[in-house]
Amino acid sequence: MFGRRKGAGGSYQVLAFLARKESGPDGMTDKSNGSLDEGIVAFGVWLNAQEKDAQDDNLPMILSRFIKDKLVMIYDRILGKSVKVNIVDGIPSCEECNSTDCSHVGFAICVEQMNKRSRIE
Ligand SMILES: [Zn+2]
Repeated sequence: MFGRRKGAGGSYQVLAFLARKESGPDGMTDKSNGSLDEGIVAFGVWLNAQEKDAQDDNLPMILSRFIKDKLVMIYDRILGKSVKVNIVDGIPSCEECNSTDCSHVGFAICVEQMNKRSRIE
């Protein structure tokens, strides 16, 4: 698969994962728990609120815990509970939805990418 180089190689892995998800239509995918795109949008809303130091009353999802390359804990306001996304070999997998392409996974991918960017700068 992909080399586990430090630095840019890691984010390439995530991007490749996203590209793969977008290219091949996956008939087996269960859309009932939202899509990756929904999670990416939710992350954008959350990030925007962080920058503005705004109240998080309207956020669909909130990052509650992040352990690099291991775990992203998200508080899902719609579900009203915390959701655990495990990261195994760079691929996030949602424990709540038992899925690798639900909205929580989309959010987790964005959290990972943000972390990698901030390390480079
Ligand atoms: Zn999920």
